[in-house]
Amino acid sequence: MKSLIREYDQVSVTKAPKRLHIITFGCQMNEYDSQRMAQMLMGRYSLTPNLEEADLIIVNTCSIREKAEHKLYSLLGRLKRLKRKNPALKLGVAGCVAQQLGDRLFEKAPYVDFVIGPQGLYRLVELLDGLEQGDLHLSDVQLTKEFHIPYIDAPLPRKGDIRAFVTIMQGCDNFCTYCIVPYVRGREISRPADHIIREIESLVEQGVRDITLLGQNVNSYGKGLGHNIDFPSLLERIDNSFPDIRLRFTTSHPKDLSDELIDCFSRLGTLCEHLHLPVQSGSDKILKRMNRHYNSSQYLERVERLRKTCPDITITTDLIVGFPGESQEDYQETLELIKAVRFDQAFAFKYSPRPGTAAAKFTDQVEEDVKSERLTRLLELQNQIGLEQYKRFEGKTCEVLVEKCQDSRLTARTRWNHVVNMEGDSDLVGRLINVYIERACHHSLIGRILH
Ligand code: SF4
Repeated sequence: MKSLIREYDQVSVTKAPKRLHIITFGCQMNEYDSQRMAQMLMGRYSLTPNLEEADLIIVNTCSIREKAEHKLYSLLGRLKRLKRKNPALKLGVAGCVAQQLGDRLFEKAPYVDFVIGPQGLYRLVELLDGLEQGDLHLSDVQLTKEFHIPYIDAPLPRKGDIRAFVTIMQGCDNFCTYCIVPYVRGREISRPADHIIREIESLVEQGVRDITLLGQNVNSYGKGLGHNIDFPSLLERIDNSFPDIRLRFTTSHPKDLSDELIDCFSRLGTLCEHLHLPVQSGSDKILKRMNRHYNSSQYLERVERLRKTCPDITITTDLIVGFPGESQEDYQETLELIKAVRFDQAFAFKYSPRPGTAAAKFTDQVEEDVKSERLTRLLELQNQIGLEQYKRFEGKTCEVLVEKCQDSRLTARTRWNHVVNMEGDSDLVGRLINVYIERACHHSLIGRILH
């Protein structure tokens, strides 16, 4: 069976007697949540890459995926066979699909032992204790505004990581009409700044040098915390406390990209010159139907301000093609916006309805073959622009942070978030080095170490 285990799932972190295998689907938030679950269980379970030898398997699901529920049941059907061989095996489902299905999941898959949503995952230890005492079918899929993200005092599951994510907030208040997040991850909840600082401190002590702050809409960080802190002031605090790290964040909503936040790119030495700013569409009509609260001119104005403040910043984005009601003209406006901004990279998807969202009920859905054709043309355009953007680094010297080494091949990253591959020794991992960029590829650069 092919499982989508992340790299950090492949390392045994303790000599704990039981084995844990986590299958993670979806975004960086899910990756972070899987890491949190592994940290909570440290000492009781060690991670194993091998499904067959696991005592506990957790499937961390993502409902952004098309037909996510159907795919989950088909995966669970395959995992059921492992339970037949090893009746002591415990099987849990976490994440957004778990949140949506709740106890209904037990009706279709009675061999699943527990179901936990993005807030409920922090009760994992309690639920496992219950199962050990003989309880059956335990779940926690509550979403409350009173929820607080607990601080977990445990080292990273994988030693030697140079990059790490730190969640600063969970949930979203925006209700874009295509998106399921506010329904499955709840409303926005920010973590106290002291927890974030403590977590970064611990990561830096473990050798992490490149930190990405995570949240569905990091720009609105601080809402509801009860004291005077917003996202720019959080960035400033981190910059002051850890002047030697590289700092990044994702995801930003264009409507909340304030001048103060843009100014951070020129003021804060740790903040890397890269912004992921999802635009979704270039058509004002479609942006309105998506409930995005900005129009294409406002988006372009933010990009202009960013480039004025930080001329060499790289900008990446997300795009949806074939949103309900998207005409050929609307689509053309998206292509024009791509040409105007010249993104370094774009993650483009065909729209597909998510049950429970407003857009799923729109009656003017676009034909599948039209969506496919539009996506192909859009990707052709973006690939050409992306390569041109990458080519501007050819023949230049860049400072890169080396992240890993495999068979004398180093993988490093520029401050602008380009991956750079080159020959080199493993003792360079974790170090900043100067590299001559020889060649640009579609999504990476080829470099040579300068001595
Ligand atoms: S901002 Fe919109 S797309 Fe992003 S998570 Fe919130 S609702 Fe979803």
